[in-house]
Amino acid sequence: MKKLLNYRLKTTKEEDPRFSWKLVYTTFHPAKEALREALCTLGNGYFGTRGAACESVASRVHYPATYIAGVYNQLSTHISGRTVINEDLVNCPNWLFLSFKVDKGGWIHPYESKILSYYQELDIYNGSLSRKVRFEDKNGYSFTIEAKRIVSMKNPHLAALRYTIIPENYSGLITIRSGLDGNVENIGVKRYKELNSKHLASFSLGKVDKNTIQLTVKTNHSEIKISQAAKTRIFSGKQEISPKSQIAFKGKKAIYQDFTIQAKKTEGYKIEKIVSIYTSADKGIKDPLASAIKTLKEVDRFDALFREHRQTWHQLWKRFDIRIKGDVAFHKIIRIHIFHLLQTASPHNVDIDAGLPARGLHGEAYRGHIFWDELYVMPFYNLHFPEISKALLLYRYRRLEQARINAQKNHFKGAMYPWQSGSEGDEQTQTFHLNPMSGRWGSDYSHNQRHISFAVAYNVWRYWKSSGDLDFLIRYGAEMMLSISQFSVSLLKFDEKDKRYHTEGLMGPDEFHEKLPDAKQGGFCDNAYTNLLITATLLNTMEILEVLPVDEKNRLLKKINLSEKDLNHWSDITKRVNIILNKDGIISQFDGYFQLKELNWDAYRKEYGNIQRLDRILKAEGKDPNAYKVAKQADVLMIFYLFSLPKIKEIFNRLGYRFDRETLNKNYEYYIKRTSHGSTLSKVVHCYIAHLLGRQAEAWELFIEVLKSDIYDLQGGTTPEGIHAGVMGGSIQIALKSFVGLEFLEDRIMINPYLPKAWHKVNFRFLYLKHWMSVSVNRRKISIFIRGSKTKRFPIPIDIYGKQYNFLCGRIHKVPLEKCALGAVWAGVPEMAQERILIVDGEIKNAFMLKSRLEGFGYLAECAYSGNEALAVLRSGWVDLIISAVVLQGKMSGDQLLREIKKDKHFSNIPFIVQTKKAGMRQVFQDLGVKHFFTRPYAVDKLLREVKNILAEKY
Ligand code: BGC
Repeated sequence: MKKLLNYRLKTTKEEDPRFSWKLVYTTFHPAKEALREALCTLGNGYFGTRGAACESVASRVHYPATYIAGVYNQLSTHISGRTVINEDLVNCPNWLFLSFKVDKGGWIHPYESKILSYYQELDIYNGSLSRKVRFEDKNGYSFTIEAKRIVSMKNPHLAALRYTIIPENYSGLITIRSGLDGNVENIGVKRYKELNSKHLASFSLGKVDKNTIQLTVKTNHSEIKISQAAKTRIFSGKQEISPKSQIAFKGKKAIYQDFTIQAKKTEGYKIEKIVSIYTSADKGIKDPLASAIKTLKEVDRFDALFREHRQTWHQLWKRFDIRIKGDVAFHKIIRIHIFHLLQTASPHNVDIDAGLPARGLHGEAYRGHIFWDELYVMPFYNLHFPEISKALLLYRYRRLEQARINAQKNHFKGAMYPWQSGSEGDEQTQTFHLNPMSGRWGSDYSHNQRHISFAVAYNVWRYWKSSGDLDFLIRYGAEMMLSISQFSVSLLKFDEKDKRYHTEGLMGPDEFHEKLPDAKQGGFCDNAYTNLLITATLLNTMEILEVLPVDEKNRLLKKINLSEKDLNHWSDITKRVNIILNKDGIISQFDGYFQLKELNWDAYRKEYGNIQRLDRILKAEGKDPNAYKVAKQADVLMIFYLFSLPKIKEIFNRLGYRFDRETLNKNYEYYIKRTSHGSTLSKVVHCYIAHLLGRQAEAWELFIEVLKSDIYDLQGGTTPEGIHAGVMGGSIQIALKSFVGLEFLEDRIMINPYLPKAWHKVNFRFLYLKHWMSVSVNRRKISIFIRGSKTKRFPIPIDIYGKQYNFLCGRIHKVPLEKCALGAVWAGVPEMAQERILIVDGEIKNAFMLKSRLEGFGYLAECAYSGNEALAVLRSGWVDLIISAVVLQGKMSGDQLLREIKKDKHFSNIPFIVQTKKAGMRQVFQDLGVKHFFTRPYAVDKLLREVKNILAEKY
């Protein structure tokens, strides 16, 4: 495996620290060009341009394309007797075009000539793409070309290309052509070739001044004007030469400026092309063309632009970089992932109304739509530049009204986000899909993935937890969560027979299962992931309601028509949503899953080799994937990726189901065997869980696959159509969450590192609760520095291998790791095997005695001596049972504590045992609904029997 990784990456000296900032190719491979173009895309959040050669036009080898965030357009196509409407992220005019011709020859395309040497370098530290090519044309003239380009991170409307031609053995006329080409279509994905793809209509084009041309086109449905202006200057040495130029057109959508020079052999001719791009959808501009021309007038030479651009990238790297010492290859891939995520959504997105396309601004797969993939990426933005997360969430907020309409159209309440979102937030998922293997069209039910709405709510909740941005919550976030919760409730149906809430007609993330084999309708009953997510969404929404100022809370409840009664109903729901488990504790992906057929995986592997897209294979064989236990990606297991184990335990227990480490282990083993990983997201989730379960070798293997996903195009053809933002975000999450062990719980941060063998040290920064924290982890110690005044303490404790630290800001804290169990996966995990009992007793001796007896029986026991301490323990994690005395330390007595607990909907269903020698208390507690009552002195054996019974009954 490792060998494979070194194969292409080891092109420069691995010892060189700069190596991990560069992606280098030293040969030209037509078959690999499409992948390289995607991987060498440059972007700044506002727009992205594929790394195609500037001399190229769309062909079987090349696909130069530029996508502007949020610029979509709809077209309809009559196909096989139906009308298919597709909304695409528009391939905008190709600003990049630059080529030359020798005397009266044709326009040069070095790759169609004889290549003498080739070097291509993506420099992610500086954000540039360079090529140096030596080639010989058919007349035997050889040339060296050096091209370097940037898409400015400093000014999102600017891009620049510097192109140097050195004729090696030719002197004579050379004509240089610099163009803006609007004759482009969305033809980057072969599967979509039957659909209409011409999104651009002509608008205006022409010469602005002696070396500037402009082009404006308009999308033919959304009517967005896209203007580009290009200034081309030519230099010989330091001297600018001003050759005569001619303007040429190709139809009404392409303009070129041709400069003819008298070239001398061995002299270098440097061409600088600077381009500015605006659209009528940009904020704060009146006329995109006027803005493009104005911006261009203000810019200087390529070097000056590059300098500013580079500096901006360096600032970004300071915030976002993760430094991994010891593993150059993996380090580099993680950095490439960071780079591409920042090119897809950057600080510029704060001013852009756009979501995060699943395939970046890098290609046309999935038509540039926005899915749930942002769920995998947003934690990365949350921790480094929360404003980017906020911008992405605001894209959703602005489409909340449309989400309400979506819900209504489907006879639901609240807000339902579409599975695939584009410009307006209405559903963009096709209902028919072409199977490229069989060439047949079939129904596509994937729009039934209602979990997308809960992913949006999750992202709001995570953003709030990490940023503490109350203003966002009040103005936008709470309304989104409340409306999504309203939607979730309307999805549920109460069944009097089992007294449980059920869902129907929904799909989980596993897209191989769209319906029961013989069903006419899409979707299933009780998709476990969706049902668990609904429970979590309701709990999280109720939690954020408590944080809102009362008047804001009331305003919102009124606005969306919710009453206290509704909220109480929600609380009840969170105890009764249905999850189907078999007798071995395996969670059924949906009702009916266990009745499906098993597949002979070995036979399929043998026959097809790569069986990631088993659905297509089965369909091409005339079989129905719905009939088999075959999953495209994690479905049941998803929930374990999203929430901390204490939170999951809380959800399960609240619903009355048992959850422990074995549940997780068994479900992992069951489902990974039945998953083909047909989505790159799948291995991210399985890797994370394998690590959580201490299956280190497995986790590592999966991690390698996660890292290779895009850079080696593991799916064999999908990355050329755009990077996978989800897997990129997921890989960073694994590095931080699994290997560094960084986990954010309700009341603390945990850092429990388990560094892979090859990783000697990891350094990174992150922002949490408005504090910047720098962390350095190696095998011997963790060093933490929290920015802030030395008198301030970080608001929550940091837990390192189970020990709590309350760090002061403004100084370096070093925690030695020798004494800790190096290799403890996640301190929280082993505990999950046990039930946690809270003993509350004013008499320390009694509490201790009981604690040691309970621990002797394998329970986890925690003592509190006052009512307030007990409440603090309850808030810090899950508790399965409370055993309380009546006389406690402090002012609160046992019965008062119980009253407090009853008031809190999170704790009110925890069983409670009371023990007292105080006369007359039995009645008081019975009135409070306590069923279990013991009279002191402890009859411990009897008490233990009771504990066992209560816990057995609970599940
Ligand atoms: C996956 C989805 C994902 C989509 C876009 C599909 O192949 O199954 O989970 O959202 O790709 O990346």
